[in-house]
Amino acid sequence: MENEETKICPYCEAEINANAKKCKFCGEWVCEEEDDMPEELNHFNWGAFLFNWIWGIMHGKYITLLYFPACLVPVIGSIAISIWFGIAGNKWAWQSRTWESIEQFNDIQKIYVKLWIILAVFGLILTIKFLSLFLFIANLEV
Ligand SMILES: [Zn+2]
Repeated sequence: MENEETKICPYCEAEINANAKKCKFCGEWVCEEEDDMPEELNHFNWGAFLFNWIWGIMHGKYITLLYFPACLVPVIGSIAISIWFGIAGNKWAWQSRTWESIEQFNDIQKIYVKLWIILAVFGLILTIKFLSLFLFIANLEV
């Protein structure tokens, strides 16, 4: 397990991991195409789909503000553009910053989905509370 493959950093000539994207000694990018997304991230980004423009701003992708004009198209507008964000999401997120690992990337992206589920559950509870309060008041007046 000790014979990890290494390569030489073209900038500072230090020996670094062969899979490294960035040299840990001088901080230079050492892969040819730093924007290339790993194959395993080739999947739908639910955080981008669910949070659309909020997710976009968090990732510096202001093109997601197109969500608002898209909403002018009734029903399908917001759904269609959210699907586009979901499809392009991982590529955008990958390019938005330097990720330590694919695991870190996935962990951060999962936070958005969890947050959305929490908000949806809270929203549902609040709706039920308000409805029952409303019904309670309505019954008082009968
Ligand atoms: Zn270096």
